[in-house]
Amino acid sequence: MEEDTIDLRSDTVTRPSPGMRTFMSNARVGDDAYGEDPSVISLEEYAADLLGKEAALFVPSGTMANQIALRVSTHPGDEVITEEGYHVHYFESACCVEISRVVLHPLVTNNGVPSAEHVSEALLKKPRSSLYSKPAVLSLENTIMSRAGSLFPLPSLMKLRELADTTSLSIHLDGARLFNASIASCIHPRVYAAHADTVMICCSKGLGAPFGSLLLANKTLIGEARRIRKLLGGALHQAGIMAAAALYALQFQRDRLEEDHEHARRLARRLIEEFEGVVWGGTNLVMLDVTGLGISAEAFASLARDRGVLVFPWTGNKVRCVTHLNLTTRDIDEAATRLCLLACQLKSGHSLAEPTAPAKAA
Ligand SMILES: *Cc1c(COP(=O)(O)O)cnc(C)c1O
Repeated sequence: MEEDTIDLRSDTVTRPSPGMRTFMSNARVGDDAYGEDPSVISLEEYAADLLGKEAALFVPSGTMANQIALRVSTHPGDEVITEEGYHVHYFESACCVEISRVVLHPLVTNNGVPSAEHVSEALLKKPRSSLYSKPAVLSLENTIMSRAGSLFPLPSLMKLRELADTTSLSIHLDGARLFNASIASCIHPRVYAAHADTVMICCSKGLGAPFGSLLLANKTLIGEARRIRKLLGGALHQAGIMAAAALYALQFQRDRLEEDHEHARRLARRLIEEFEGVVWGGTNLVMLDVTGLGISAEAFASLARDRGVLVFPWTGNKVRCVTHLNLTTRDIDEAATRLCLLACQLKSGHSLAEPTAPAKAA
């Protein structure tokens, strides 16, 4: 990668900060298989307290946390109601089949937020008897990645909790970016978590740890989750080095997410000059619709790469830009300049056979 390439593909491209590396190198470790890794224990206790849950389990990835949550909350053949754009459906549908043998029931919504009416309708759509699949889990997401990192409104979550209580659904909250939601809404993560039975958080997204996610729930569910983690090959031994990074991220890199949100807002505000479909969901993501440029998202990403900006082709016509802790305000401005120039060239029919060299930052 070129020295001055600006990477907006994801908030997983960050590198451990110097403080994090020091914290990691000083971490006490033991064998977590014997429940003896002090750093893992500290992390799990800290996260459980932060989210107001009885217990937590450190797992390698967000996907594994989601999958364990579904597995411990369902029986094979059960139904998981979710939204079509959520990670659980968009990326994990095959995992749900292979690991939990559940059926996904994806809802189609305008804004990524299923209402209680949506969910009741899904419940009532078919005859519900013991002969057919049983709706067991309502799987939600906050922030909502496919909707440019928008917030799942707390009042909607509360209404869904009421419905879940009357219909014996358990609620799973995919909170890969829950702290982004919390910072943007000024709602404590514990308040969101209180309405879910199982919650997952990623330390390797905006929080900037190199590894790891946590699943949070009551002690009974986490006990069973520990068994499933082992079964999936996700039980770790001297994991304290990684747990230390995750703990450092949770303790010291949470508040700075505000800066990522400000950067995403700044980027979006610049991009609206040249792009028609710019959506900033209020956190660290900007979604760009490139339809108006007469080019696919993939082709756009490739041209942007030639100009020193990495973006992620989300769908055929949407490109995702994510801000994170390794980007400075100058990087944001420079990326905006390069992307706007590219859009401008595309609109004016500029020959793209000879990509212009990335402008060197002054
Ligand atoms: C990244 C992400 C996940 C999965 O996390 P991995 O660590 O990449 O497995 C799940 N849900 C959402 C919303 C995510 O953004």
